[in-house]
Amino acid sequence: MLNIQNLKCYHGRIQAIKGVDLFIGKGELVTLVGANGSGKSTLVQAVCGLLNEWKGEIRFENELLAGLKPSSIVKRGISMVPEGRMIFSTLSVLDNLKLGAYTRYRKKRMAEAVENDLQMVLDLFPVLKDRASQPAGTLSGGEQQMLAIGRALMARPKLLVLDEPSVGLAPLLVRKILSTLEQLRNQGLTILLIEQNAHAALEIADRGYVIETGRVVLEGAASDLLNDEELKKVYLGKDYCESYPKNFIPLRCCN
Ligand code: ATP
Repeated sequence: MLNIQNLKCYHGRIQAIKGVDLFIGKGELVTLVGANGSGKSTLVQAVCGLLNEWKGEIRFENELLAGLKPSSIVKRGISMVPEGRMIFSTLSVLDNLKLGAYTRYRKKRMAEAVENDLQMVLDLFPVLKDRASQPAGTLSGGEQQMLAIGRALMARPKLLVLDEPSVGLAPLLVRKILSTLEQLRNQGLTILLIEQNAHAALEIADRGYVIETGRVVLEGAASDLLNDEELKKVYLGKDYCESYPKNFIPLRCCN
C-alpha cells in the first residue's frame, strides 16, 4: 500500500533521512521505532505532504505522492495523528471530530456516512461521548490522544499514521491506545505507528523498522525484533527492562 524507496529528507542543510526504504502492505500494522532525533517525524512529514525538501520515491497505492498537498494526500486515504496531538483546543470535542471529516463534509451526500463514522468513533472511545460538547483543551492528555485518533479516523483513512501516540501518557493509557490500534488493524485498517516506546510498539505490530540517525539499521517481523539480542541490549535495554514495567520502556534506557 505504501512503498518508500531511497528517501532522503532535509531540513535546510540538515539531512534527517539518509536513504530509507520502507514498505507497508494492506492490513499491516508496521512500526518505525528509534531514539530522539533519529528522523521518525521527518519521515512521516514527507509521507503526509508536510515537508518540501525530500528526494526519492513515495508511492501510495502505486501513485507517486511527490508534489501533492497535504489535503490531497488526506483525500487519497492517508490520515495522520500528529505528535503532540494538535487538537483545536477552543473547539468542542464534537467539532474537532467533525473537522476530521472536512474533506468529505462538503459533499452533501456524504453527510449521513459522516454521522455513522462519528458514531463509530464515539463507540470506540466512549469517554469522548461524555465530553462531546466540552472544549477539547479541557480534556486530559489521554483523552486528547483519543480525540486526535478519532479525528484522523473521521477522514475514513486507508492508512492511519500515528506519530508517537504514547508520549506523556501513563502506562494504563498507553495500553488502551495500543489495544485500540490492534482492534483497528484487526478490522482491516493499515497502520504506520511511529514510536520511541519500542517494546510496546513491537508487541502489537506485525513488522518493524528500527531507525538510527536517518538510516534503517534493522527490520523484520516484530516478534523477531523483540527477540533480537542486539536490539534488546541497545534499544530495549535488556537488563534494565527486567525490573521495569513492560509497557513503559524508553529507548536507550541503558545509556
Ligand atoms: P523525536 O522522537 O524527538 O520526535 P524524531 O525521531 O521524530 O525525534 P525528527 O524530529 O524527525 O526525529 O528529527 C530528525 C533530525 O532532524 C534531528 O536532528 C532534528 O534536530 C532535525 N530537525 C527536525 N525538524 C527540524 C527543523 N524544522 N529544522 C531543522 N532541523 C530539524
